[in-house]
Amino acid sequence: MSVRPPTFVKFRDVQAELERSGAAIFRDADGVESLVIRNPYAISYIHSYAEDTPFFLGLTEGRLRGSKCRKPKCGFVYATPRSHCMVCGAPTEWIDLPTRGRVHSFTTCHFGSEAFLKETPYNLAMVEFDGVGSLLLVRLKDCVESDLYVGMPVEARFDPNPKYSITDVWFVPARPSH
Ligand SMILES: [Zn+2]
Repeated sequence: MSVRPPTFVKFRDVQAELERSGAAIFRDADGVESLVIRNPYAISYIHSYAEDTPFFLGLTEGRLRGSKCRKPKCGFVYATPRSHCMVCGAPTEWIDLPTRGRVHSFTTCHFGSEAFLKETPYNLAMVEFDGVGSLLLVRLKDCVESDLYVGMPVEARFDPNPKYSITDVWFVPARPSH
């Protein structure tokens, strides 16, 4: 009598089997077989966003908040929270970023952390904004890999039920502006 779990070559299929029965065998490209088991555990992690708080509260208001160097001669604008300027070292202030930008670069993920595994393949992009000196790494939704190109106009969407996480914002292909 064999109780050998079923074997899969795609980890997504392993994941599905783990959900179903709790054990599976993953055979990699070299033919190496790994017994994989599901072993649930729970943890409540208490995390403070501290000085990044306005960024995450901004997402709940449909605002994408960046930071701008306070030194007038510099004025570098960052698409991410940053307390001090990386160019000149001066403190920054919060600003609202545009919610429309362009794809600077992109990748399609066929694997991801547990939270995203069920959504593979999914797209990630570095988004650039007019007047902003750094890029924002975000999910791109409502499009597939073959839709994507460098310079593609995209616009932000915000989760109406925010989780206070970077996943509260994602971008979609921009509707043509009139
Ligand atoms: Zn500066």
